[in-house]
Amino acid sequence: MDKKSNNIGHNYLKNNGSNIQDLKTTKKGFYVNYDKAGYRIDYYNTNTFRRLVRKGLIKIGIFEPIKNLKKRFLVKYVWKEKVNSIVKKLTKSRLPLFDRISIETFSKCNGGCSFCPVNRFDDPRDDNLMDENLFKKIIINLYDLDYKGQIILSLNNEPFLDKRIYNFAQLVRKYLPEAYISILSNGTPLNVERFKKIIDNVDELVIDNYNDELKWHANIQSIMEYLADKEIYRDKVKFRMRLENDVLDTRAGQANNRGWIKTLDISCLYPFISINIQVNGDISLCCNDALSKEVVGNVGKKSLEEIWYSEKYFDYRKKINSSRKHVSICEGCDTVDIPRGIANV
Ligand code: SF4
Ligand code: SF4
Repeated sequence: MDKKSNNIGHNYLKNNGSNIQDLKTTKKGFYVNYDKAGYRIDYYNTNTFRRLVRKGLIKIGIFEPIKNLKKRFLVKYVWKEKVNSIVKKLTKSRLPLFDRISIETFSKCNGGCSFCPVNRFDDPRDDNLMDENLFKKIIINLYDLDYKGQIILSLNNEPFLDKRIYNFAQLVRKYLPEAYISILSNGTPLNVERFKKIIDNVDELVIDNYNDELKWHANIQSIMEYLADKEIYRDKVKFRMRLENDVLDTRAGQANNRGWIKTLDISCLYPFISINIQVNGDISLCCNDALSKEVVGNVGKKSLEEIWYSEKYFDYRKKINSSRKHVSICEGCDTVDIPRGIANV
């Protein structure tokens, strides 16, 4: 296999049909809807009945045990075999290049999500911006690799707090015209002008509206109104209504509103498909490693492909395969994801 090429997910992404109109529900509590202009709106855990049940179970202290039990059941009877068979194909000699790269150009978020270890109340990180030369170095590296996968210009941060994000997106578009550029934002720093400034240089803009009352923030509403008579961005823009105080995954055992879990008996595909770059160039093990507890290398010192195929990275993959217990952040992590398109491996 040519290590430079891969077909894990990006081909799928180009035609992911995320705005297909007959898509009404998806798994994991997502309820899909469309506004009048055809823009997709996902409602996440917001169904009234579901909310009431979840609230009741949380109140009497059995929500987490049930969630954990359900996950353990799915791991044992549904996911383990699938994940194992994929991992078996991603051996040292056959591992394709990563297909998803996330870049954090600013180290902070202004959000207050209680399920997130780096919400604005709990984040121990300093305010740091990525050096522009480092950003350029990453893009040149990807250009040399003829990279065509997904590039996410956000990670565990709010990307629009970095005023350079527009120039960065333009630069990526220019040098990597076939890459699939995504940005995920909580939407609070956005307005119509900023939306117009970014939209032509991305393939996907996901706006998460966090509000426990299920109300749209006024600035997000104004973007929706601006789009009301425009169809052209329909395949790029997705809105999500989400709860700021929700109980989700343990996020590498670091979600403050989740307790201890018994280590899941399953490997993890993230270190086999994606690469995550922090502001200082450190590559953390996965997107859940918000505080860079497990660093695989630094892109300021080595190339992306050197790090991706390094002994250190393979050592991590080997450890996770043998047991999540062997990596500190994986031990308490309940994330199990079989990303779209990975079956193509
Ligand atoms: S989940 Fe996203 S928006 Fe919420 S605090 Fe974390 S990084 Fe910010
Ligand atoms: S098990 Fe969790 S913490 Fe470990 S690599 Fe996977 S997603 Fe990251």
